[in-house]
Amino acid sequence: MSVTSYIIALGSNRRGRHGGPRAEVQAALVAIGGVRAVSRIHETPPLGPSIRRFANAVAEVESGEAPEALLRRLKALERAFGRRPGQRWGARVIDLDIVLWSGGCWASRTLTVPHPQYRARRFVLAPLAEIAPDWRDPVTGRATLPLLHAVDRRRPCA
Ligand code: ATP
Ligand code: MG
Ligand code: MG
Repeated sequence: MSVTSYIIALGSNRRGRHGGPRAEVQAALVAIGGVRAVSRIHETPPLGPSIRRFANAVAEVESGEAPEALLRRLKALERAFGRRPGQRWGARVIDLDIVLWSGGCWASRTLTVPHPQYRARRFVLAPLAEIAPDWRDPVTGRATLPLLHAVDRRRPCA
């Protein structure tokens, strides 16, 4: 069983049984296991009474699992944390996405790696730059830092 490195993005914007979004992200890191590096937890404070606070982090995880097996385990963890199906984009206790892996690209019906949206998401790229600034996107050949700078140039006030 060969060991593979995965980059996983964690996000929460809803309380669960561990507490608020930050506590949910911390508990998920423990539950995933095999964590070799982890970013700070980035928190976006609520802008108004009805807008939820987000917590986001990125971790490098070592695992002997193939990508589909890891995805199945992450989806089971999301359910165990209380995430209900059909909450894409909505409030959720935890979201666990595979951003990158050491094997390059993966594309199947259920899983696309690199994650198709990560190049445009500051909440993924900023924490990723803390632990893997030089990790190259196998699709575009661009490393994390240039991708982050490109997003910042597009949205200078974000
Ligand atoms: P987004 O994928 O835009 O961040 P989301 O994370 O809220 O949205 P989910 O409901 O968590 O979306 O996942 C929807 C489906 O995306 C999953 O059932 C999974 O099969 C698929 N998927 C494809 N590629 C990935 C990936 N790299 N990581 C996680 N899920 C993925
Ligand atoms: Mg997601
Ligand atoms: Mg997801």
